[in-house]
Amino acid sequence: MKIKCLCCNDTIESKSTHNLVSCKCNNCYIDGGQDYLHFGGNDFNKILIIFDDDTEILASDEEEYKNKYEEWEINRIKELAKNESFNN
Ligand SMILES: [Zn+2]
Repeated sequence: MKIKCLCCNDTIESKSTHNLVSCKCNNCYIDGGQDYLHFGGNDFNKILIIFDDDTEILASDEEEYKNKYEEWEINRIKELAKNESFNN
């Protein structure tokens, strides 16, 4: 998961749980790596969340991105379960 700052057009991605990355203009930051989404910033109207399937949702659109995030989380758990049964 990535976020894009609409102030400076910087797209940033956290590589690991404690890898906090800020955009060029410091309007926003992301961390949490691949396991969960954690981001913040000054102006949520200027933060675009980019999901793994290239869906882009504005951070200020809280309801929409929470729905999408839930979907992403369910898919992730499904994938983990798939790998689990594959290994057994
Ligand atoms: Zn920025």
